[in-house]
Amino acid sequence: MFPQARGQRQSPVDITTSKTQHSGDLQENPLRWTYVPENTRSLVNPGYCWRVDVNGKGSLLTGGPLQKEQFILEQFHCHWGCSDSRGSEHTVDGESFAGELHLVHWNQSKYKSFAEAAGHPDGLAVLGVFLKVGKPHPELDIIARLLPFITHKGDRVTLNKPLDPARLLPEGKAYWTYLGSLTTPPCSESVTWILFKEPIEVSHEQLELFREMRCYDAAEECPCDETLNKQFEYGKVINNFRPPLELGNRQLLFLSSLLKIRIMGKAKKVKLHRKQTNPTGLVDVNELIEQGLAGSAKTGTPVEAIVEQLESSVTEEKICGLQSLATICQGDINVSELVENNVIRIASSLLVDQDQSVRHATAGALRNLSVISVELCEFMVDQDVLTPLLALLNRYPSNGQWKPTFDKNMQNQMDERSDTFLQAVNLLWNLCESTSDALNAFNQSQLLEHFVTFLNYKVYGEEIAIAVAQCLLVVSEDNASSWRVLANHAPDLSGLLAIDVVDNTTLMLRALAAGIIGNVPVLLSSHTSQILVCISKTLEDNHRSALGNLTSMLPIEPQKDTVDLEVADDVPIDDETEAQSHQRRRKADLPSEGELEVRSVGRLLQAQRIAAEILTNICSTDDDDWQSDSNENDNNAGSDAESVYDYDTNELNGSVENTDKISVEVLEAIKSLALVEKLWHKAQPVAENVYQILVESEQSTLKKLDALRVSTMLCLHNLCNNITTDDLGGPAAVYNVWIDLGQQVFQGQRNEKLLEASTSLMRAALEHLRKNPELFRQMTENDVQLMLNGVIGCEDAEIRANWLRMLGILGCLLPEPLVKLIIDFVLNTCANEADVWVLAEALDAMMDIFADNDWHAIMHEVGMVAKCKQLDRIMREKLKRDKRQLGDRFPAVSTVRTNLGRFCKYLETELKDYKPNMES
Ligand SMILES: [Zn+2]
Repeated sequence: MFPQARGQRQSPVDITTSKTQHSGDLQENPLRWTYVPENTRSLVNPGYCWRVDVNGKGSLLTGGPLQKEQFILEQFHCHWGCSDSRGSEHTVDGESFAGELHLVHWNQSKYKSFAEAAGHPDGLAVLGVFLKVGKPHPELDIIARLLPFITHKGDRVTLNKPLDPARLLPEGKAYWTYLGSLTTPPCSESVTWILFKEPIEVSHEQLELFREMRCYDAAEECPCDETLNKQFEYGKVINNFRPPLELGNRQLLFLSSLLKIRIMGKAKKVKLHRKQTNPTGLVDVNELIEQGLAGSAKTGTPVEAIVEQLESSVTEEKICGLQSLATICQGDINVSELVENNVIRIASSLLVDQDQSVRHATAGALRNLSVISVELCEFMVDQDVLTPLLALLNRYPSNGQWKPTFDKNMQNQMDERSDTFLQAVNLLWNLCESTSDALNAFNQSQLLEHFVTFLNYKVYGEEIAIAVAQCLLVVSEDNASSWRVLANHAPDLSGLLAIDVVDNTTLMLRALAAGIIGNVPVLLSSHTSQILVCISKTLEDNHRSALGNLTSMLPIEPQKDTVDLEVADDVPIDDETEAQSHQRRRKADLPSEGELEVRSVGRLLQAQRIAAEILTNICSTDDDDWQSDSNENDNNAGSDAESVYDYDTNELNGSVENTDKISVEVLEAIKSLALVEKLWHKAQPVAENVYQILVESEQSTLKKLDALRVSTMLCLHNLCNNITTDDLGGPAAVYNVWIDLGQQVFQGQRNEKLLEASTSLMRAALEHLRKNPELFRQMTENDVQLMLNGVIGCEDAEIRANWLRMLGILGCLLPEPLVKLIIDFVLNTCANEADVWVLAEALDAMMDIFADNDWHAIMHEVGMVAKCKQLDRIMREKLKRDKRQLGDRFPAVSTVRTNLGRFCKYLETELKDYKPNMES
């Protein structure tokens, strides 16, 4: 039935250590692996072991006997016995171990699929690890604990925690290697075995959990009567190992570190002499060593291997290199390695390769890289990715000569050429978001005009329209030369404001269109009311229930795991044709239902974030970039500081009333569309259980949710600074917002940006309550203490400044004991404050407390004169030293310093004739 099972290259074997050949130093041609823990997908019971199926992207094994070829991880599984005394397949000098792990890899440098690789002598590589009874193994424990959920054959469960295959390997890296076969039918003779000498420890209890698995499926009866004879344990998965077979003429090589011998000077270099490749496929010792010595200098790392492939003249080699490039970014990427190897420059030239598939793979790989970090985007621009990228994009005419075609059998996937365009536009978008060079290059190209045409989603599809719109949104920000072009296409853009919103994708497209129009002043003024309605409608969708639905589906079972796509070791290999294999791989790459839902909810969150940002933009009072608005707030310190001149008059800062900056039309719309409430709804945290699930299994959605909350808080912050207390809903409503935010903040927010946005909004809200001390009557010392702790534990200067400002405002509202607590704290904190501008904020706010109240007793008891004089000296020194770093902040800080000098004199005058008890 399985003809190979009787062949000459069968596994396992007994390792007779006296007969193994020591074949060189590990260091010279090291075995190298990178595994992506997040890509271990699901644990399955196939009826004879447990097996973890892996998405092999980024999980690579190379070097050692595999030489330069890259093998990707397909799955790993385990063999064990009925007791701790046996269970391993390989034996060492006749001795069994309690079990044996197999990490199965296939040769992606030569073959297109696991199935194809398994049919060739150099197709597979298996890492074998012996299990020995001892301490429980922490990584195997993730598996052991899930085994009760996959008791029966066919059961499958998704791993709730990423499992790192690298942690399953022993510390000592010496290994034996020989050429062998799979140990389960069809026993294909395609495996390069690599067996680690050192076993890993696993506890008896963990092995017992393995032995509880059943080989029959849940619907079947146990194949025996369990009461008959317990000791045979029928139906349990045990003794699932194949006994050793003859090694025959095969060589068994042993590789360990020769370092010691070298130091002693006894190691001699083996003489190199090239031999013909052994036709039997056996590894030749000398050749292996030669590879090790000569090869290690040239191709030390996977990235260098990629470079070699990219520079090949063979299309398949290039695509293979590009695929590796696309997948290594999903693992722990060593960016500096990419930088050193010129790999980006070499890859980007392939954007205009003659071969369509090469262009497609290149655009995909570079797009993946551009997602990693702003720094990498900057580096890509440095490496001149833009020239070939813009050239590629220019090959797509907007006059109707090119239109994507969509495959109805493949979730409406685009043809490869159109998908290349989509990847390229997304790459351009990421580069434009990260660097002004990219933005300028795009701006100067003729693409802008074409791109407006591609917004027609009915012709070009939603994916292209969204990608193009994202580019246009970035390029239209503060960029007058783009406005001219965009203004010429007003009907195309405003048409999108009126599109039929049927799902989150169209919702996002409409929001993007509103954003683009909002960026172009001439279009904004003629479309303000439509845009405001669009903002309102976009914010109406309940993101909370969408997230609730999504989290009930998590963690997501990827499409790959459906039975018809399953390819694994231990199952007969089908003879699929090249085309079938291509089709299967394309299908395997299609997103699953869960992944589509993640994308859909992500778009809802993004659309709502864009809506909040447009509103911020519309209400923005300065010409500065609204996205960096949060940093701009502190420039107000100048105007605030001036009010300190009046510290001994009775003039209050007054509640915020200046509404002249927002037009009546906008203000009316904000009120009638209830935008403040809608924004407030988005700013609130989601339910704790939903949040926890996102933390555990959907980080990308969580990021979008946090970004939405930050943007809506900044928008509300902006509104607070520009509309009246009444338009915000009245003092009581504003007070409730302040309290709610405070509670969220003190429940421990982990995200710095959120914390900064929350405290900025709290500070702006509190400014509205300066005339309402009655609202704060219930505040206790504990409440104030919480805020003081907020300052103490805070490493972010912006957040610290927000707290200190709020303390200053509260100092104007609270009764004497609390005021004293605040002043004392502020003075002591200031003495240790590192940032001089934070110091200035704190002192400015503190001096405000004395604007309408002299608080003589506090001045005296706290020892203010001496402390303020001391701070005056500190400020003078810091101001001199940090002048340059302060930049725009310098005038405001300098004003506070001047005021502090006056304040010191004021304190001295006030206290000259003061006697304790005088006021009591
Ligand atoms: Zn196995």
